[in-house]
Amino acid sequence: MNALEEQLHYPLGDALPEQGRCIEVAPGIKWIRMALPFALNHINLWLLRDTLEGENGPIDGWSVVDCCISRDESKAQWEAIFANELEGLPILRVIATHMHPDHIGLAHWLCQRWNVALWISATDYQVARMACLGDNGFGGERSAAYFAQHGLTDPESVAQIRARTNYFPGLVPSMPESYCRLMDGKLLHIGGRSWRCISGYGHAPEHIALYCDELQVLIGGDMMLPRISTNVSVYEQEPEANALRLFLDSIDKFADLPEHTLTLPAHGKPFTGLHTRIGQLHDHHRDRLAEVMQACTAAPCSARDIIPVMFKRELDLHQMTFAMGEAVAHLHLLWFEGQLQRRLGGDGVYRFSRVA
Ligand SMILES: [Zn+2]
Repeated sequence: MNALEEQLHYPLGDALPEQGRCIEVAPGIKWIRMALPFALNHINLWLLRDTLEGENGPIDGWSVVDCCISRDESKAQWEAIFANELEGLPILRVIATHMHPDHIGLAHWLCQRWNVALWISATDYQVARMACLGDNGFGGERSAAYFAQHGLTDPESVAQIRARTNYFPGLVPSMPESYCRLMDGKLLHIGGRSWRCISGYGHAPEHIALYCDELQVLIGGDMMLPRISTNVSVYEQEPEANALRLFLDSIDKFADLPEHTLTLPAHGKPFTGLHTRIGQLHDHHRDRLAEVMQACTAAPCSARDIIPVMFKRELDLHQMTFAMGEAVAHLHLLWFEGQLQRRLGGDGVYRFSRVA
């Protein structure tokens, strides 16, 4: 546990759900933890006891929140959950907090398997459907050009990014052909309780967290993680985005929730200490912004120049593209707030320097 985590509280201690099993974390809310083959090696998914109005009256069952990536191991884990944890009831709907592959990869499979609908924000639904077709912003020609413009120009990286055209479809082979729309402020009735959708920006196009006041439980998705900071990046599809400002403004929306709210994060363990965590995330980004400002005061910097300032460890190419996105996000916040200026060099690379 790092020093910041010690300021939070994990009510379940070190308990983790075994593969194919759940832990009930609040009445009618079960925690599933599935393995991921990445540096971030797991994702938390949730089963919510639910009742939906069917064609011949109410049907008891479960709503699923988030899905895991598409691969056989994930499907096998789901089958074990279906066998062990549904108490003989069906899945009634699939809710996705956002369109990243670990959250939405198996949405299509789950919806088909149970003949149910996907609930998601309109923006994330549309972006995911486009990304399935390979037009995704995670690799390919435009992506390589974007990173090169921010200083990632070494031929090996450029070639690898150019070649990585199948990243999203490889993890999310298809999407349901229709969906039910989630949007900020909408109330979902799940298992006789009301859950409010809270939109968040800067991490995904339109992330939806869910809050139940009766239980004082927040399903935070990737917007409120206890241990790692959420990836906040600018990518080539929206190259002039101010993603970090959007993210910081979005997490402040959770400040209205009670301090002892139980937050269910997509990665890490359920925790309380929401207000403390919001403060820690602001501090984290304030420190990174100060480092970036200092570097750009000493000399004009590209995003690539900022990487060793912000990230003190070796990065593989995949981590490097995330890091580049984060570096641009920090530079952009300072640029949009008038503290940095941006100039395009004769070499085609953007560099940022302190406004005199
Ligand atoms: Zn995400």
